[in-house]
Amino acid sequence: MSDASVHDVLILGSGPAGLTAAIYTARASLSPLVLEGEPSSTGDTPGGQLMITTEVENFPGFPQGIMGPELMAGFRDQASRFGTDLRQEKASKVDFSERPFKVWVGDPAAADPTYLANTVIVSTGATALMLDLPNEQRLVGHGVSTCATCDGFFFRDHDIAVVGGGDSAIEEANFLTKFAKTVTVIHRRDELRASKIMQERAMANPKIKFQWNSQVTDVLGEHTVEKVLLEDTITGEASELAVTGLFVAIGHRPNTSLFEGQLAMNDNGYLITDGDSGRTNVEGIFACGDVQDETYRQAITAAGSGCAAALDAERWLEANVHN
Ligand code: NAP
Repeated sequence: MSDASVHDVLILGSGPAGLTAAIYTARASLSPLVLEGEPSSTGDTPGGQLMITTEVENFPGFPQGIMGPELMAGFRDQASRFGTDLRQEKASKVDFSERPFKVWVGDPAAADPTYLANTVIVSTGATALMLDLPNEQRLVGHGVSTCATCDGFFFRDHDIAVVGGGDSAIEEANFLTKFAKTVTVIHRRDELRASKIMQERAMANPKIKFQWNSQVTDVLGEHTVEKVLLEDTITGEASELAVTGLFVAIGHRPNTSLFEGQLAMNDNGYLITDGDSGRTNVEGIFACGDVQDETYRQAITAAGSGCAAALDAERWLEANVHN
């Protein structure tokens, strides 16, 4: 075991939820340890999704807007200031079957865990699914986006596209018509998966067009998006669509594979918490942020739930460990 002491609070993840939980528990003198995660080619982002966002204009307190990475650096500094121990490490295995809880970093087959903790706050986030296009990652934040609420405002009077045919894609397309000149929904079939009412709303919206049976094969542009390349899924015919924005709305994957069989999840893999609280089905394990929020997925709601989970953990420690 590399660290034999039992930590009062171990936080997994370093987005707005995890770092807000760190600020609160650090100020409560609980010396939280945060495993921030490690950057990886599979989409893991220490600091969370704001690290791959450009300007954030809807986080209260920043009337002129703030760059996503700068906002997260502020969260991090604030957590450090009160004594949070931040480590660029990623949990590879957890055992929540008994207390103290066990967390491994590195070889999951190692006999001894790396860390022991009285409470764990899970804030591992969710990853927006991407299309894996050759130029997609390069243009994220420069026309390619996975969040209409965050970025729609930047596309006033532009011609843009949304990829996907589910509720998220149709909701985003409807929302984006507040700003854009036209929104083309690019879907790989000729039938939407979205609920009827959302479909009807979109079909009735004169700014929304549909590009059926089409798969995006690449997104092009030197500095910002200029066009997308399409392939007809039936005939294979190639075409182009001139747009300045590409919103990818093909679903999110919560980062919960580590907790399978240990924490209760819904059918889509999101952790289930009790009512408005951060309590999971295992006493002493709390969850906050996008890993347990399929509905709102905003930085501010994640931060709010991080605060709630921290207060829940603090009260639980008082009642069960420090009494
Ligand atoms: P979803 O229902 O899984 O839909 C994903 C869409 O993306 C599908 O139309 C799918 O096409 C398409 N897609 C997936 N992979 C693709 C790829 N590689 N290339 C091109 N297209 C691809 O995901 P979601 O829309 O994010 O919704 C997730 C859940 O949240 C759903 O249960 C949804 O009802 C719910 N939700 C509800 C609301 C609301 O009620 N207001 C809003 C948002 C989300 P196919 O159809 O061909 O599979």
